[in-house]
Amino acid sequence: MALIAKSKLQSLALQYLNGKEKLLKDSCPYGVIKKALFDRFSDKLPDQYHYTQLQDAVQSKNESAEVFEDHCRKLCLETVWRVDDEAIHVILNEEAEHRLVAAYINGLRGVVGHQVKFRMPATMDEAVRLAVTIENAEQQKTAEKQVFTTAEVICYQCNQKGHITRNCRARSLQNQG
Ligand SMILES: [Zn+2]
Repeated sequence: MALIAKSKLQSLALQYLNGKEKLLKDSCPYGVIKKALFDRFSDKLPDQYHYTQLQDAVQSKNESAEVFEDHCRKLCLETVWRVDDEAIHVILNEEAEHRLVAAYINGLRGVVGHQVKFRMPATMDEAVRLAVTIENAEQQKTAEKQVFTTAEVICYQCNQKGHITRNCRARSLQNQG
């Protein structure tokens, strides 16, 4: 078992083990190796806490799709092992990108969230582009609705169309006089 575990280790960890004769023995229990590695690399290990933070990230009410993207990227960075090995670094980053896309799509709110989930973008770029496009379309709709609503509303103060009582000029003139 210890042998299988060791063969799966990445170069950085293996280098460390090669310097420790005791740990390299096949009779060495896996738990001992794991403990030794954890002690050595604990400052570089991504904490379970950060995984959970990323998985549970939810877009705030006033957070745009792009701001939420930044938020998720920062959380995701915390879940990536910091290694010097270039090849491992690339692999870890690719793996982290999958995590990031999943968390981002999952955390998007409302109509934008539904639409993006429905289209299942594979990359972060694609997901953000979709989210921003849908977000803009939704904002446009809301703006049009507001113009319509304001035009139709009738003021209780002066009975004229186009504004609400709080914004009534007649009322503010009255208050001054
Ligand atoms: Zn009025």
